[in-house]
Amino acid sequence: MSTTIAPTSDLLPEVAAFLDSPSLKAFVNGEWIDASGGQTFDVVDPGTGQKITTVASLQKDDVDRAVDAAVNAFEGSGWAKMPVNERSAALHRLADAVEARKAQFSQIESLDCGKVFAQAEADVQNFIDTFRYFADLAQQVNYRSVIGVKGHEAWIARHPWGACGFIVPWNFPFLLTGWGLAPALAAGNTCVLKPAEDTPLSALYLCKVVQELDLLPAGVLNVTTGIGETAGAAIANNPKFRRMSFTGSPEVGRMVAEASGRNLTPIKCELGGKGAAVVFDDVDIEETAEKLVGAITFHSGQVCCDATRWLIHKDIYDKFVGECADRMKAVSIGYQLDAGTQMGPLVNTKQRDRVLGYLEKGVAEGAELVLEGGAAKVAGKNGYYVKPALMAGSLDNIAAREEIFGPVAYLAPFANEEEGIRLANNTEYGLGNSVWSRDLVRCARVAEAFESGNGWINAHNVIVHGVPYAGVGKSGMGGGVVSPDTLNDYLRPISIVRPL
Ligand code: NAD
Repeated sequence: MSTTIAPTSDLLPEVAAFLDSPSLKAFVNGEWIDASGGQTFDVVDPGTGQKITTVASLQKDDVDRAVDAAVNAFEGSGWAKMPVNERSAALHRLADAVEARKAQFSQIESLDCGKVFAQAEADVQNFIDTFRYFADLAQQVNYRSVIGVKGHEAWIARHPWGACGFIVPWNFPFLLTGWGLAPALAAGNTCVLKPAEDTPLSALYLCKVVQELDLLPAGVLNVTTGIGETAGAAIANNPKFRRMSFTGSPEVGRMVAEASGRNLTPIKCELGGKGAAVVFDDVDIEETAEKLVGAITFHSGQVCCDATRWLIHKDIYDKFVGECADRMKAVSIGYQLDAGTQMGPLVNTKQRDRVLGYLEKGVAEGAELVLEGGAAKVAGKNGYYVKPALMAGSLDNIAAREEIFGPVAYLAPFANEEEGIRLANNTEYGLGNSVWSRDLVRCARVAEAFESGNGWINAHNVIVHGVPYAGVGKSGMGGGVVSPDTLNDYLRPISIVRPL
């Protein structure tokens, strides 16, 4: 028994059995493989700092073989040519299989990324919903649309592209796996997914379920576990992909986009954020404070589209700040699988150092620490815990400009609508901003003035299947996710013309 996380009695029997192996392998062409040189990396429980297991650390040749498997499966497995209703039925079966194991997936996800169990459960439900959404949507696509042009018979046919690559981060491992894979598979493509090295377990458990229940032909889904600079770079640079998708930091996104550019592979990038909440003076102060504190402490603030800059109308600024500070102090920090925990750990030491480092750098540049934050202790657990923090001051401060990715909000007052919009838009990022007011006409006006992919009214982090979710500027490019456009991105159009 190599598991060191917790007594197995705390784990569901299926989860304990899954982790009860000296090393987990990657999943390529329907089989479990080790890295060619036997390389592995450790996966750690962020709540205890203890090793959960080790996982195969694939090298370039291993990843290239996985891409070949996906190319071969596209050409020869029948998946791409399967009637759409049959393919959709297969994806519904996959969603049903995950739903039947929702507790197991949720426990694995919670353990692996330090996410509070209820939040992990919501992510697993989102994965299920995403597969069902795209499985249904694929049956409504017009795979041949006639174009009426004089003197010609013309139409557009839509086919899957081929093998598609996916690189995902550690903050929403399973949810983002669903957002990536579901539209690509529903359109008939084959996939190679590289999970983040911090959080590969839910993707591997998915492969186990897929293999045991024979849910997909071999090679249609491949999961290449490994380190970013090795396995991730091998995905980014492989010229056999027909579509690429990257979710993660702008720094790595730029490298992956450069590699895709060299291969002329279309790429979708979903990157970081520095969202603003613009709060007007007519709001219910307690209710709005409650929602914003809930958003910034959700998954310990490791959320790309979070509101991290809180712009508050000057007439309610002091009261609002006080309400937020009181609520943040009351957040219960604890182990992610313990009942009653509202905020779990950060994912690793690097992330904790990053958050604590921004508090220091922000103060050094003159920010006021309204609520101190800092490292937190949880009895009996040696994990990567921090307290929520509130900073205030000039929006030129480093902590107001750069993505911190932790439970830290930066506060500043504004005087009128025009200034609120200007401050919200004064960032290189453009993912999600929100406006808060009882005046819904004003809300609509302000939301439309945001230079971001998403604008929310009297709420933050609202992502709904059917509504495009994407970033602009440093937050992303190449089309978004979870909407009909996403499915279309995974279909290659060909125009057919016959002169009459
Ligand atoms: P990251 O960019 O460090 O890593 C993301 C993925 O890229 C991981 O799988 C990693 O292994 C891989 N990678 C690292 N180096 C690589 C390389 N040289 N070549 C190819 N792949 C490489 O990001 P992270 O720290 O895991 O995630 C946090 C970031 O993700 C934040 O900026 C956050 O805002 C962003 N994010 C964005 C969205 C969105 O939808 N816009 C969603 C979630 C997270």
